[in-house]
Amino acid sequence: MIEINPEFCKGCYICIEICPKSVYAISEKSNKKNINLPAPLNEKDCIKCHLCELECPDQAIYVEDKND
Ligand code: SF4
Ligand code: SF4
Repeated sequence: MIEINPEFCKGCYICIEICPKSVYAISEKSNKKNINLPAPLNEKDCIKCHLCELECPDQAIYVEDKND
């Protein structure tokens, strides 16, 4: 499972660029800063490499290792 904390996200989209499996896309949903949030639309393709989690400058992403 992938969780994105909407209020931590600043919309840099590093997560979208860095993911080797193109899991993320920019969604229609925005946060209080009026930033369109990334969403893990292709979450089924996630290989749990944790790159997005490590590289997010605002610790907005949490990738859970077990699949549920
Ligand atoms: S890397 Fe983090 S701050 Fe940047 S768009 Fe993704 S979730 Fe938001
Ligand atoms: S853990 Fe890896 S494969 Fe999964 S969404 Fe993040 S960068 Fe992409």
